[in-house]
Amino acid sequence: MNAPTALSHLVPDVSQRPVPQALLDALVARFGAQCSTAMVVREQHGRDESSFQVPPPAAVVFAESTRDVADAVALAAQHEVPVIPFGVGSSLEGHLLAVQGGISIDLGRMNRILSVNADDLTVTVQAGVTRKQLNEEIRSTGLFFPIDPGADASIGGMCATRASGTNAVRYGTMRENVLGLEVVTAAGEAIRTGTRARKSSAGYDLTRLMVGSEGTLGVITEITLRLYPIPEAISAAICSFPSIEAAVRTTIQVIQLGVPIARVELIDVNAVRMVNKYAKLALREEPMLLMEFHGSPAGVQEQAQTVQEIASEFGGNAFEWATTPEERTRLWTARHNAYFAAIQSRPGCRAISTDTCVPISRLADCLLDSVKEADESGIPYFLVGHVGDGNFHFGYLLDPDDPRERTVAEDLNHKLVGRALRLGGTCTGEHGVGLHKMGFLVDEAGVGAVDMMRTIKRALDPKNILNPGKIFSL
Ligand SMILES: Cc1cc2nc3c(=O)[nH]c(=O)nc-3n(C[C@H](O)[C@H](O)[C@H](O)COP(=O)(O)OP(=O)(O)OC[C@H]3O[C@@H](n4cnc5c(N)ncnc54)[C@H](O)[C@@H]3O)c2cc1C
Repeated sequence: MNAPTALSHLVPDVSQRPVPQALLDALVARFGAQCSTAMVVREQHGRDESSFQVPPPAAVVFAESTRDVADAVALAAQHEVPVIPFGVGSSLEGHLLAVQGGISIDLGRMNRILSVNADDLTVTVQAGVTRKQLNEEIRSTGLFFPIDPGADASIGGMCATRASGTNAVRYGTMRENVLGLEVVTAAGEAIRTGTRARKSSAGYDLTRLMVGSEGTLGVITEITLRLYPIPEAISAAICSFPSIEAAVRTTIQVIQLGVPIARVELIDVNAVRMVNKYAKLALREEPMLLMEFHGSPAGVQEQAQTVQEIASEFGGNAFEWATTPEERTRLWTARHNAYFAAIQSRPGCRAISTDTCVPISRLADCLLDSVKEADESGIPYFLVGHVGDGNFHFGYLLDPDDPRERTVAEDLNHKLVGRALRLGGTCTGEHGVGLHKMGFLVDEAGVGAVDMMRTIKRALDPKNILNPGKIFSL
């Protein structure tokens, strides 16, 4: 495996390029109060949810239009200074850190819904719109956008990390739901990729090249997305199990039988305890599956009955229903709060989140050995998973001042990724590579494929100014 576990190798390679005063002067002249060099603003844009510490960018530009983004990139390109796009800063793998210095472009003010085409089930938004804002603003159309990472991320950031969430088992990820983009290139020019049509055979698929490129190939300024009708009937249920294995085997069978379940999330007993305490709930302290069914009233009932029968074969009990919107929100809020509940359970801790994803038939093989290793390590942890996709996250809760704990957790992750790759899976199902998984990418894709990625990067960004030092080194 290329990814090192020794702590000394996990300190990011920081070599900041100079940011000339002439560039800062030019940015202030062009952007006025939209450009800040205040330390507090720079620090806020120079960290994410990862546990790395890196000096912040030299300035932050708050873009309000595609023209602003293009001008900021063009100025940075003139001075060969790095540019790091910023959505809401919820990424987990060191994506935003200014390891080679440079400036941050914050797209949060580009937060307008540009057009809703209800007849075609599409919407076009600016990159700074967040997923919750989008769903609130289109609710009256009877449509919704299903991708829901646990944080209220920006649509631009979600494109850049190829995000998914609890609904991906039914509706897919950003890869399947982005139809077209407007992107500012490394030369500071805006281009368009894709159309509003459902499909196209027109040339290279630049949309999919940009989705998941983590700010290294262009700055996304507009996005056209697919929407879905709000289902006629929705019902949610929780089911407790005597063991994680029983919950996982239930999930595998549900997926293999082709039940079109909309959400199926695993929560281990540690996470249930943390959520109970944090949200003052009284969930049974056993491993559980949280599920949701979408469709016609009869279809939903039929799916739920099939799942209930499978769950009872594996000892699942206490199948509890949440049919009103308020009950469902309470249940899913508990799931979405699991990360914050876990952080609060150990004051002062930082979490390292794993993100492996394996083919569904190998889920039990991958998960159960890793649970055993985590239990034996003595590191406090929680486990949650979008298990219908074969994707799960251990969150190891570390004392940031104890290097031993960090080494143990990295070692656990190393073994877990090795296992996932041997089983035909990936080191990252949805969070992306950033800094933390650069070594694992070589293990997964191979030297030849990573070299092809480098060739694309060099062709599109010859001065290496777009979020340099992420995904792979040049
Ligand atoms: C509690 C919690 C739960 C989470 N759950 C999930 C989950 O279930 N599924 C999931 O997929 N992720 C999850 N995440 C991770 C995170 O929310 C996603 O990675 C999200 O897509 C990041 O969006 P953002 O707006 O915060 O982007 P940022 O963190 O601001 O940026 C992320 C990366 O994208 C680049 N970028 C941002 N905007 C643009 C743009 N307009 N153009 C080009 N590049 C850009 C940045 O340079 C950076 O490399 C979770 C995070 C937290 C804290």
